[in-house]
Amino acid sequence: MTKTDTDTINASDTNKPQFKNTTAENLAKTLSVLARDIGKRNHLNPSGLKKAINYIKYEFERHGYTADTQIYKADSVDMDFENIIATIPGSTDKDSIIVIGAHYDTYGDTPGADDNGSAVGVLLELARLFKNIKTEKTLRFVAFANEEPPFFKTNDMGSLRYAKMCKTLDENIEAMICLESVGYYSDKPQSQNYPHVLKFFYPSTGNFLSMVSNMPSRKLLEKSTASFKSASKMPIAKLWAPATLVNAITLSDQWAFWKFGYKAIMLCDTAFFRTPHYHTPQDTIEKLDYNKMADVVDGTKQILLDLAL
Ligand SMILES: [Zn+2]
Repeated sequence: MTKTDTDTINASDTNKPQFKNTTAENLAKTLSVLARDIGKRNHLNPSGLKKAINYIKYEFERHGYTADTQIYKADSVDMDFENIIATIPGSTDKDSIIVIGAHYDTYGDTPGADDNGSAVGVLLELARLFKNIKTEKTLRFVAFANEEPPFFKTNDMGSLRYAKMCKTLDENIEAMICLESVGYYSDKPQSQNYPHVLKFFYPSTGNFLSMVSNMPSRKLLEKSTASFKSASKMPIAKLWAPATLVNAITLSDQWAFWKFGYKAIMLCDTAFFRTPHYHTPQDTIEKLDYNKMADVVDGTKQILLDLAL
């Protein structure tokens, strides 16, 4: 696009973010705190990590929840980490549990707007929208520590510790919904890439949300995509595959739940198959589309309603 004088004249109007609803506005607020004011939040940046934890707890509590924690000592570094949990106890079937989760840590020096502030924003907004909803089953909103390297797929990964605890307690997690990088969209042709042959079967424009599962979670994927589509304008591309065959579907916290035999799916903007800013300092808040993220909230809210009511 070429900048013209007309653009300059109208700049004060056109540069203002246009939020289509309260949800989009709330998402923008959350992201400005997490990925602009706080920024880097990981073991190499412990003060950012602490601020992010306090912010998430504060938001859960502001919406009327108790912010529970699972604190654990890491094997690989001398630090404690914590998963943060807000729960709506089921009214009639509290032993059946639905988990929705997103990791709040960031990789290296990135401020983590798309990865994974966007997903934390959606998680917190869903917690707000559910605050007065009674569900038959138990619904847990979980913010996970340590998804990023060097902890990914190790015993120090937050979601792994959490899923392991659930298994040890013999909890019936009926479904886990993983939110991973859900804020970057493009209407440009050929803006979407894929691992190997998948590119022949899926859209080449990066304006959709992907929903993926392993083979055992396929029914959950089918039910969830149907719920999502009934409530959201966001286009979906769904994929189920053996986790051993398509590594790309294993790259977030749903993997930890699969490891303990739970059914889980991931909602994602496809991350590095689409965004050029993946894991760089350029993963900043201006790159996000808050109105499209609001569509993700609409669809995901319906998934949770259909699973937990
Ligand atoms: Zn990442």
